[in-house]
Amino acid sequence: MPEGPSISVVCPLYNEEGNVTDLVSRVTAIMEAQPGRPSYEVVLVNDGSRDRTLEIARSLARRDAHVVIVNLSRNFGHQIAATAGLDIARGDAVVLMDGDLQDPPELIGAFLERWREGYDVVYAVRRSRRGESAFKVLTAKWFYRITRRLTNVSIPVDAGDFRLMSRRVVDALGQTREKHRFLRGLVSWVGYRQIGIEYDRDRRLSGKTKYPIGKMLGFALDGITSFSEIPLRFATYFGFFVSVFAFVYALVVIGLKIAHRNTPGYTSTMVAILFLGGVQLITVGILGEYVGRIYDQVKARPLYFVDSIESASSSYTAGASALGSAPISYAAATARSETSSPP
Ligand code: UDP
Ligand code: MG
Repeated sequence: MPEGPSISVVCPLYNEEGNVTDLVSRVTAIMEAQPGRPSYEVVLVNDGSRDRTLEIARSLARRDAHVVIVNLSRNFGHQIAATAGLDIARGDAVVLMDGDLQDPPELIGAFLERWREGYDVVYAVRRSRRGESAFKVLTAKWFYRITRRLTNVSIPVDAGDFRLMSRRVVDALGQTREKHRFLRGLVSWVGYRQIGIEYDRDRRLSGKTKYPIGKMLGFALDGITSFSEIPLRFATYFGFFVSVFAFVYALVVIGLKIAHRNTPGYTSTMVAILFLGGVQLITVGILGEYVGRIYDQVKARPLYFVDSIESASSSYTAGASALGSAPISYAAATARSETSSPP
């Protein structure tokens, strides 16, 4: 292929053995049916799967030169895997979608239409969700609304990571190398012309969700802490309010002492200790959330390592070309890690 593909479809995959084949065939069918037959690539990011995902992806890549496999060195998590895919994708427009077919590939046509109209980001808004527990739907709903209240950039409600991004948005994202990535927030933060289109979210084709409650909470915290100082301010205000109260109460206690009216007050002592202790733990906890993230960021480790990039297409055989197109620090770090041999 002399010139790069113009559309990339990026799918992070973690233990999706039951979905890869259908995923690729549905995406292929959509891409082949596009008016003008744009060139395309399907970038499958294997995020350290422990099932047969990689094996199946390889057999697909052997048969179809449009398929590119980015095999990460271990499981790095959804947001990082997606980032790896975006770094390596070369399209003029890049579609990011889940690998479990909850995001219907059929929407890509509508994405492309909006992109041709001049939009830089076309994101899919979930009108409904099928096959997900009431608990998941409810927590997701709260999650979107709470992050919206707490963050400084306006992140669209009920939109996941299923979206199309223009080359300049992907390049801009590539320059943000923060570790606790909240991609949809970063995309909003980048700006340019963005628009949402509604769709009905399907149930997972096979397998089960990789976002149990603990991970969902972690993700929510990443989203809020990456884009908001409001919790810190809350900690300050809350601490301030309680100190004023405690100070006034201390004066009262001293006054009573002077007037010799103090009764041996076990209850009041305990209440004060417990309350102040609780407030301190909350505020220290909030600080800790930020400090931990600062610590992670300061270590400045690369976001991920690539084990191999595999494709039947000749433009990918060296792997180097793909890495060369990846942005700055990442490219250098990964290239080093790949070429350095043990002493
Ligand atoms: N995923 C990944 N790495 C992980 C967890 C998930 O690449 O550590 C992928 C997963 O294979 C899927 C997408 O991220 O393609 C979304 O995950 P999932 O469907 O489990 O999330 P949900 O749709 O339930 O929120
Ligand atoms: Mg899913």
